[in-house]
Amino acid sequence: MYTPSLEKLSSELSRLPGIGPKTALRLSYFILRSPKDYVTALSEALVDVKNKVKLCEKCYSYTEQVLCRICLDPNRDNNLLCIVENPSDIPQIDSSGAFKGRYHVLHGVISPMEGISPRDLKIEPLFKRVQASKGTEDQINEVVLALDADLEGDTTALYIAKTLKTYDINVTRIAHGIPIGGDIDYIDHRTLGRALENRVQI
Ligand SMILES: [Zn+2]
Repeated sequence: MYTPSLEKLSSELSRLPGIGPKTALRLSYFILRSPKDYVTALSEALVDVKNKVKLCEKCYSYTEQVLCRICLDPNRDNNLLCIVENPSDIPQIDSSGAFKGRYHVLHGVISPMEGISPRDLKIEPLFKRVQASKGTEDQINEVVLALDADLEGDTTALYIAKTLKTYDINVTRIAHGIPIGGDIDYIDHRTLGRALENRVQI
C-alpha cells in the first residue's frame, strides 16, 4: 500500500541514474523496514556529502579541506600535470601506478552540441595555473591530456593544446589503441587507426 511519504521517497529515488520506478519503490520499502539508526545515518550521509564536499582550490578535484590529498602530497612530481574530465578519473589513472604527477580537473569537455563552451569548464584556471608556475621550481614542463577518445575529447584536447603550446611547454595525450589482451580481428577501424597513429618504437 502506497502512502504519500512512500510515494515521495520513491519519486525522489527514481531520479537517481539507473534507478527505475520499480527499483525506487523496492528501495523505499527497504528503507521503511530498516532500523531507524540506519535511516538516520543514511540521511546524514546525504546531507554531509552535499555540505562538506567542495572543490580543491588548486586542481578542482573533490575535497573537504582547502586542498585535496593529492595536491598536499609532497612526494609528487610538480613538473608533470595530468588533465582529466572528472574527479572520478583520478583514482583510475592513479591506480595504474604509471603517473606520479599532479592533476587538474576540467569538470566536463567542450561540446558545441550540448552548448558547453570552454568558459563552462575549468580551462582558464588551468592556463593560469600553468602560467603561474613558470620560472618557479615547481614549473609545469609537461601537460598530459587524459581525455576520452571521442569527438568532445578530441575537440577539448586540441583547444587546450593550441593555447598551452604558446606557453612553450610539452603537451602530450595518452595513447589510445588496442586493449591489453585485445584481438586485432575484433578491433573497430577507428581504434585500429588511432593505434597505428600512436605506434611506438620497440
Ligand atoms: Zn587538489
